Amino acid sequence: ATMPPLLAAIATAGRHGVLVKSAAVMEQLGTTTRVAFDKTGTLTRGTPEVAEIHVLPGTALTDDAVLRLAAAAEHGSEHPLAEAIVRAARQRGLGLPDAVNFTSEPGRGVSATVDGHAIRIGSPTALLATPAADRAVAVEVATQQSRGHTAVVVVCDGCPVAVLGITDHDRPESAATVARLTESTGTSPVLLTGDSHTTASHLATRVGITDLRTDLLPEDKVTAIRTLQSGGDRITMVGDGINDAPALATAHVGIAMGPTASDLTLQTADAVVVRDDLSTIPTVIALSRRARRLVI
Ligand code: ADP
Ligand code: MG
Repeated sequence: ATMPPLLAAIATAGRHGVLVKSAAVMEQLGTTTRVAFDKTGTLTRGTPEVAEIHVLPGTALTDDAVLRLAAAAEHGSEHPLAEAIVRAARQRGLGLPDAVNFTSEPGRGVSATVDGHAIRIGSPTALLATPAADRAVAVEVATQQSRGHTAVVVVCDGCPVAVLGITDHDRPESAATVARLTESTGTSPVLLTGDSHTTASHLATRVGITDLRTDLLPEDKVTAIRTLQSGGDRITMVGDGINDAPALATAHVGIAMGPTASDLTLQTADAVVVRDDLSTIPTVIALSRRARRLVI
């Protein structure tokens, strides 16, 4: 007997490096009208680097002292930005003290006590209640973002002490993948990110995405998907972080990106890109469409 088309398509997807979890998912993929992408780790490689450490005026700490406190506080986080901060401290040969009372808020940042100091690190929107309250911080955040860097604020005992500028590299296949989605499969991409509009625009321009929705908390990504769906769109969402799991669950099809995706994301997703290659997304949509034509 010949294999049913959807099962054959699952086998082919597997050879391309995508694990599709069921025939129902394989069938749904072909109905996608828009593909929603997370930014960090999905359109970018997800191995960011600390490019700049800007210690704020009036702070009695050196670059190294700030980096050491920040890295100690981030040690318990698996976020790519946390890994970048810990790597930067190691590269400078800084020994990391133990942190206590570590807490992490997806989409916002982390906090911990290091050497008796209450350290918080995270997004400017989460940490600066009124950005205008401290002009020096707001100006430096804007400067970093205008360079395309992700700006992260370091707060020590309630006072902002530094702004870090963090860079990431685009995946080499991101631009071609976006082009192929638009041109061959007719599905228009949309970018959903917790990062700022200014920072995300740099990447969006390079990869060719014109619809970007920024400054989103994990729950806002869910709302963004629901909004698109209520307009009649069928959404395939691609993401890698813990913060993407609720959005992956809400989308018609949720795809976890890469073997480095968090465990929760791998479990929640309907499909997993096991080969670390984003260009497999238009491939599986096309495979599904072909299989559907044979089934129906
Ligand atoms: P994305 O949608 O791009 O994957 P996230 O939702 O994970 O981004 O994070 C959004 C923002 O929250 C980041 O740009 C950063 O400012 C902040 N953030 C989240 N986790 C951390 C962390 N561990 N350390 C510092 N900042 C963080
Ligand atoms: Mg991500």
